[in-house]
Order: sequence, then C-alpha cells, then structure tokens
Amino acid sequence: MKTLESLTFDNSFAKLPATYYSRVAATPLPDPYLVTYSPAALKLLELDGSQITRAEMIEALAGNRVLPGMDPVAALYAGHQFGHYVPQLGDGRAILLGEIRATDGSGWEVQIKGAGRTPYSRDGDGRAVLRSSIREYLCSEAMHALGIPTTRALAIVGSDEPVYREQEETAAIVTRLAPSFVRFGSFEVFYYRGQVEPIRQLADYVIARYFPELSSLADPYPEFLRQVTLRTADLIAQWQAVGFSHGVMNTDNMSILGLTLDYGPFGFLDAFDPGYICNHSDTAGRYAFDQQPDVAGWNITRLAQALVPLMSVEAASAAISEYPKAFATRYLELMAAKLGLRPDGNTPNLVVSLLELLGTNRIDYTRFMRSLCEFDSRDGALNSPLRDQFVDRAAFDAWARRYASALGATGLPDPERSTAMRRVNPKYILRNHLAEIAIRRAADHRDYSEIERLYMVLTHPYDEQPLNEAYAEEPPDWAKQIEVSCSS
Ligand code: AMP
Ligand code: MG
Repeated sequence: MKTLESLTFDNSFAKLPATYYSRVAATPLPDPYLVTYSPAALKLLELDGSQITRAEMIEALAGNRVLPGMDPVAALYAGHQFGHYVPQLGDGRAILLGEIRATDGSGWEVQIKGAGRTPYSRDGDGRAVLRSSIREYLCSEAMHALGIPTTRALAIVGSDEPVYREQEETAAIVTRLAPSFVRFGSFEVFYYRGQVEPIRQLADYVIARYFPELSSLADPYPEFLRQVTLRTADLIAQWQAVGFSHGVMNTDNMSILGLTLDYGPFGFLDAFDPGYICNHSDTAGRYAFDQQPDVAGWNITRLAQALVPLMSVEAASAAISEYPKAFATRYLELMAAKLGLRPDGNTPNLVVSLLELLGTNRIDYTRFMRSLCEFDSRDGALNSPLRDQFVDRAAFDAWARRYASALGATGLPDPERSTAMRRVNPKYILRNHLAEIAIRRAADHRDYSEIERLYMVLTHPYDEQPLNEAYAEEPPDWAKQIEVSCSS
C-alpha cells in the first residue's frame, strides 16, 4: 500500500502536443473538507486508507495543491449536442491532474470535476455543486458494482463556497478515475477543423495505450473503429438491460473506451416506461430510454465520419455496420440471462411481450425482475405474488405459461436458476429518491452518513440485505417532483 508521498504521477495525455489540451491551474476551493470517499476506488490506486483523510490529500483533490509529477490540463473536444455540432467544448470545469500506474500495469487518470474555469468554460463558472457531485459519485460506484463499464469516483470534497444554479448551492469536487477520458468529440474537433494529422496522432495514442493488440496491424484504424463500435454496443445493451437512462448522450459524453461517462441528469427506470425521459430539459425526448440504442448508433456514425480521413468511407462503413447486430445480440443475451434462459429463437418474443406487459401495467422494472427470480416453473398458482402485480392478470398468466415452458426446456432446477438469476437481476439501484435523501441530508445538515450507507447498499446490488429492504422499495409519491437537468 502506498502513501501520498510514494504515489507517483505521470501524465501521458499531457505529453501529447498542446493541440489537445490547455495547461491550467485549478481555482482554489476555499477550506475544503472531505465529504466521502470510495474504499474500492482507493484500492485501485493502491493507496492506504489512512491517506484520504490527510489534509494534503484533501488539498490535492480540491485542486489547491499540485503533487509531484502532476501536470494539470483541461482537454479540448467538440461534440454534437442534441444533434447539433458545437465546434468547441472541452473540459470546462474538469482538470486532468495526471495518471497513476498500479503494480498490475493498469493506469488510472485522475481528474477533478468542478475545479474552476478553464479556457473551455464558455459561460460556465467552472464549478460543480454538491448535489450533482453526490449523484455522480454514487452512480459511478454503483454502476461498477453492477458490472457496467464506467468511469470511477474516488471521493468528493466540499466547500462552503456558494455556487449559483436555480438556487444558491455549495461547491464540491468529485475526483474521477478512468484509464482515459478521451471522447468521440475529442476526434470530431479536428475533423471539423480539417486537421488530419491531429486525428491520426490521437488515434495512434489511443490505440497504443488502450488497444495495444491493434498496434501490429498494417492498417489499425478500421479495426479500432470496429472495436469502439463493439464496446459501445455492449455498453448500451447493459444500460438497456438494467434500465439506465444517461440523459445527455451527446457525442462529447461518449467514451472512446465504451465507459459510462459524464453523469448528469441520469435516471434508472422505476415503473417500466420505454419513453422515460430522465432529463427535465430534454423536452423532445431525444435521449428517452428507448432511443438510446439508436442514438448510440448515430453517435458512432459521427465518430466514423471524424475518422474517415484515416480510412476509406467503405472501411469506415463496414466497421460500424456491426453495431445493430452487436447491440441486439448482447441485449438479448443479457435479457435471456435475466430470465434464467439461454437465448434461442423464442427469447425475443418472450422479452418483448414481458416488457409490453410491464409497460402497460406500469410495473416496477427492477423489483419485478428480482421477484421473477422466485418464479415457480411447476405451478402457475404458486406465482401469485408475481401475478398480483398485474392489472391484467390473464395477460400475465398467458405469458407465464410460455415462460414456464421455456424454463422447462433449459432442464435447470428452479433453485439453481433462481441463484443464477439473482446474480444478474439487481435488488438495489440508485433511484432518484434515494440519491435525493442523501443529498438533502448532506446539503441541509452536513450529514454525510446517508451517502456512505447508500454506497454500501449499492456496491452490493445483487445481495439480499435484510437490514436494507427499504432501499429496494418503490419510490414514494414525492419522488415524482424530483427534476434533474443539465445545470449541475
Ligand atoms: P456536460 O453536459 O456536463 O457534459 O457539459 C457539457 C459542456 O459544458 C462541457 O464542455 C463542460 O465542461 C461544460 N460545462 C458544464 N458545466 C459547466 C460549468 N459549470 N462551468 C464550465 N463549463 C461547464
Ligand atoms: Mg460532458
């Protein structure tokens, strides 16, 4: 285990030409204090647990102290926001401090979000509020525990510095970790500027570091695009299977590594609703839950376009043409596993008709899937706890008969299937109302214990936690009033 003094920072991204970033200094965050930290993320850095509470560490995570080897930069990128190209975005409030290499060879870039204005801040204040930092922190760590690729969150530091959003709030900084924060938009910016060499150099950098197996190919670029396509298909399939809505799937929020990136107005489905829009500002529903697979496909096409200077149009089209099939195959595989089945010709129909039933009967998606783990394949009558959730019981019975026969064909005994299903149907997800309770306690009473409690619950999402049943309940009525938008 390392101490702060034995931690060695490098910053390979900052060693690229200055075309890709601006060297910046964080704006000091007055009198920072540690709000919470993730022991699991701390382990990634091989840091001793006692280090995170040290004043020097808190100062570093607040951007008030630059540790040896750090080389703080804000990255340049562009992106398509709600379908429209915006030529310059970039890290407007996030600062990449450097990277830490673990003994197993894995590298973790350390980024602080909310560290003050950068050359890319446009009209923004460069800050993040405690509310959104808590949401990002909890969801990052919860997604990881669910097994979904994501950037990680190490800690939150807070300050009494006021930050003005719809109302006055206080500033906070969440420390994010990822192998890389390069986005689709990191390539787009140079394509639209007509600069081919920077596209090539960034692609070479990403390939060498994150797709090293492609380095030996005579022409690695089409395969690189294909790999990103497949990773993205896998990611979106996982979002759809767990019921996660990102909320702002702009190309600047799409990770080149296929990670869930930039948590803003995200939301998990409560009652199953394919048209669920988690972002209050997304009035047209561009990023509604059921649009995500198509939007990701559209975003991949934007990336392909940006990479076309490195390959023929035909090669780019071929590389991304696998997206629909890769997504559908993976999604079906995940949904079949959630149903305790191996995918076959009947699975699509079984999944689609179940989701239709859940939608028309407005049934809680996560709770239903978890309760389905207890389905009794012998006798329909034993499934009354499931059946009673439906207004249209006859429709459920018809589905259950088909389901029972599909289960029968697997030859797996119920208890075994049930155990396997509990490993892929989480009991605990970060519902908005759970985050809201933790946020209110933190913001109104400086009580951070609920963040820790939620962290503990959500990082064991597949376990039965008898003392934490309340965290698996449906949302209370007041939850309908929670509005989340981009202004965070
Ligand atoms: P997001 O929707 O959070 O992914 O951000 C979109 C763009 O706006 C990115 O370039 C961000 O860096 C920038 N941005 C968001 N909030 C702020 C802020 N408070 N200050 C400066 N830039 C911001
Ligand atoms: Mg963003």
